[in-house]
Amino acid sequence: MTHSSRAATFVADADRTTWHDETLWFVRQKRDKAVYAVPEFQDLRELASQIKEHTLSRLDEYLQQFEAKAQRNGVHVHWAADAQEHNAIVLDIIRRHNATRVVKSKSMLTEECHLNPHLIGHGIEVIDTDLGERIIQLREEAPSHLVLPAIHLKKEDVGATFHLHLGTEKGNHDPQQLTEAARQHLRAKFLAAEVAISGVNFAVAETGGVVICTNEGNADLGVNLAQVHIASMGIEKLIPRLSDLGVFTRLLARSATGQPVTTYTSHYTKPAEGREMHIVIVDNGRTQQLGRPDFRASLKCIRCGACMNTCPVYRRSGGHSYDFTVPGPIGAILSPNIDLKKHSSLPFASTLCGSCTDVCPVKIDIHVQLYKWRQVLTEAGEIPAAKKWSLKFMGRFLASPKAFGIGGKVARTGLRLLPYQLTHAKAFNAWAVARELPEPPKQSFREWYARTVE
Ligand code: SF4
Repeated sequence: MTHSSRAATFVADADRTTWHDETLWFVRQKRDKAVYAVPEFQDLRELASQIKEHTLSRLDEYLQQFEAKAQRNGVHVHWAADAQEHNAIVLDIIRRHNATRVVKSKSMLTEECHLNPHLIGHGIEVIDTDLGERIIQLREEAPSHLVLPAIHLKKEDVGATFHLHLGTEKGNHDPQQLTEAARQHLRAKFLAAEVAISGVNFAVAETGGVVICTNEGNADLGVNLAQVHIASMGIEKLIPRLSDLGVFTRLLARSATGQPVTTYTSHYTKPAEGREMHIVIVDNGRTQQLGRPDFRASLKCIRCGACMNTCPVYRRSGGHSYDFTVPGPIGAILSPNIDLKKHSSLPFASTLCGSCTDVCPVKIDIHVQLYKWRQVLTEAGEIPAAKKWSLKFMGRFLASPKAFGIGGKVARTGLRLLPYQLTHAKAFNAWAVARELPEPPKQSFREWYARTVE
């Protein structure tokens, strides 16, 4: 299925689409306010971009440094080439401790590796402890946003889900009461868990430690209560020095939710007395992306979600329409690297307006990469024939001033003479279904210019 056909399901509910659009735009505006309050924000973006570019250029060295330091700290370091290997390593650690109860804090990497179904299939209870993640886990859905995984749901949806699974009162959708119900439910799971799995926001090569940023403190509770901590990280999470961290923490929360900093920024460097800490370092296609000069900058991403909150396509089509762990503009440039054919429609799910590039805290040229993927896809023959031929036709048409002039004249006359029901009919003009076409001008700009200026 293509992005547009999946988006049709989401767009069919016009109220939800408008609400989703407006909610994310509200988050984007919060981000703007937080950003304008920091005069040196653009300098921070530049610095973050340079630190990430430098790290990627010496990734092998920094990875080895990180591994050596972590091992010296008493941490077990594992390497996984792909999702299968990652899942096998995690399962093996859990089994070696005869554990059956696991709590997990938010980790897009474990989503990417489909860790939950793998562990559940082997008899392990896995509980996502981030509130949004727990909601979608109960509903058996995938996250629809990097930072706000349940943003596609209204409080009424959450109320119905909690009534079904947690026994809350039917029709109760008071956010405070629902949060309290989730808190009580999760507390018992935290206390019973033998293993805690977490993601990693940043891994510091200099210290061998990992940094986890959350707003709910769920990662800390899980890690500090369980005997074993397993931290899963992609190879791109590295930063060279601890002193680099402040650059990213100042950018991350402001870009994500408009907060000055996440409520919890937790450092894990070594296991507590009598406990075990494991770090699983995962490639899963990242080295391949690193080897693509046009797309390697996508590995600078710190998963803030700002590009989603600003994208007019994402805001109106919803995260599930991307059918990839990371949705939105950044997902559309990461996904073709994993499966070119399957995700061939995603780089076209963009107006190329460049708003994603403008807000990206690490200055990834997202819209340029989207455009480049379109070229790669076209050359690889991975676009539908109708699109290919219509683009060819439009290329010729727009390259000919004469054809363009005639086309404009026909459109202006047609729009004036044809009945409204026809010009706004869904079958001929889906664009105009929710929009009013502007009054067609009597003359083109060229005609006006020739008459008034020349
Ligand atoms: S691409 Fe940039 S804006 Fe989008 S999630 Fe990554 S860091 Fe944030």
